Amino acid sequence: MYDALIVGAGPAGSLTAYLLGRNGDVAISEEHQIAGFPVQCAGLISDVCFNRYRRYCKIEKALEKRIKGAFFFSPLGNYIEAKGDAYVIERKILDTLLFERASDVADVFVKSKTKFRGSKAILNGKEIKADKIIGADGINSTVARHFGFERPGVFTALQAEMRFEALDENYVELYFGNKWSDFFAYAIPIGDTAKVGVISREGALERFNKLIYDHPSVSKRVRGGVIELNAGAIPDRLIDFSKGNVALIGDAAGMVKPYTGGGLYYLLVAAEKLADSFPDFNSYQKKYIKELGREYKFGYKIRKLYTMDDQKMEKLFEIMKGFDFPGVHMDKPSTLQLPNSVFKIVLRLIRDPALAFTVLKLLI
Ligand SMILES: Cc1cc2nc3c(=O)[nH]c(=O)nc-3n(C[C@H](O)[C@H](O)[C@H](O)COP(=O)(O)OP(=O)(O)OC[C@H]3O[C@@H](n4cnc5c(N)ncnc54)[C@H](O)[C@@H]3O)c2cc1C
Repeated sequence: MYDALIVGAGPAGSLTAYLLGRNGDVAISEEHQIAGFPVQCAGLISDVCFNRYRRYCKIEKALEKRIKGAFFFSPLGNYIEAKGDAYVIERKILDTLLFERASDVADVFVKSKTKFRGSKAILNGKEIKADKIIGADGINSTVARHFGFERPGVFTALQAEMRFEALDENYVELYFGNKWSDFFAYAIPIGDTAKVGVISREGALERFNKLIYDHPSVSKRVRGGVIELNAGAIPDRLIDFSKGNVALIGDAAGMVKPYTGGGLYYLLVAAEKLADSFPDFNSYQKKYIKELGREYKFGYKIRKLYTMDDQKMEKLFEIMKGFDFPGVHMDKPSTLQLPNSVFKIVLRLIRDPALAFTVLKLLI
């Protein structure tokens, strides 16, 4: 009898298996032969996130590139700059590193899709007994569906690595405006290529094509030649993720930043809280919400700003030109509410009362 069966060996599952396996008997199952396949990630993480992963694996081995900041593009292609350290990591390598750590302390079953019959977990045709079940099986979680957890909605993410002339190869580029996405689009430069992607609730493919062919800045800098193409789904909200002897983690629970869809930092925090609380799943959920609940709330508000009409958004970009974001942590949007930043933002917004009203209406 295992203390826990963890379903799925993406980063959430492997990290959880490693943290729990140090003090107990755990098993982890992965339906594919290797972890991190297929890749559905741009691999952009903050410096804080990169350093926190260092506690658990040699993440330097997965490092593709250091990033020094971001250009935020308005719907018409004007841009503002924000400085800030971040990293691009190769997900296949990160997932392998974490899976190796899990393998050191847990029983691993690869090419083994976990199924359920009633309350029994079935692995390779046989029942596998465990006190607790942890669903780390991604957005289409079998565990969540079988045990009746509510499911989040999704955004579609479409990403192509292609030859691209970056404005500055140390800066990521983020594109806003309804023509390009109803969420946002991006380019993450790596050498003379970039991971160019669109995350959108609707029409991701159509919008991706528009971005490549019609965007006033992107279309002039795409050099063609798709090297790698991938698509995936991103959950749109956090759900209740503990129920009796079953808990969820990572994408299965909707643990992504509401305003970017990035999951690697939020799932890492969750794995730590789960390990701290184990076997009490109720306390796991409480501790997680205590650390990140505020970030989700504020993150959803920021996401609402993306729904502003293009004209107003263009004005907002104009007003924010030259604004720097001192002390803002990329994974913690509530840091934008630091008195210093709020004061400066208000000072700029009052130049255009109609716009200020729209922004406030979306934020409150
Ligand atoms: C295009 C795209 C770009 C992204 N870019 C970023 C980014 O730049 N930064 C960032 O932080 N996040 C990014 N994300 C989000 C990030 O990839 C996810 O949040 C992260 O992969 C979630 O990890 P996970 O372990 O929860 O799930 P997954 O990585 O989906 O892993 C789930 C695992 O469970 C396995 N599995 C599923 N069902 C079963 C079963 N029944 N039995 C056994 N195994 C099973 C799957 O094979 C898989 O290996 C991106 C997502 C997409 C789609």
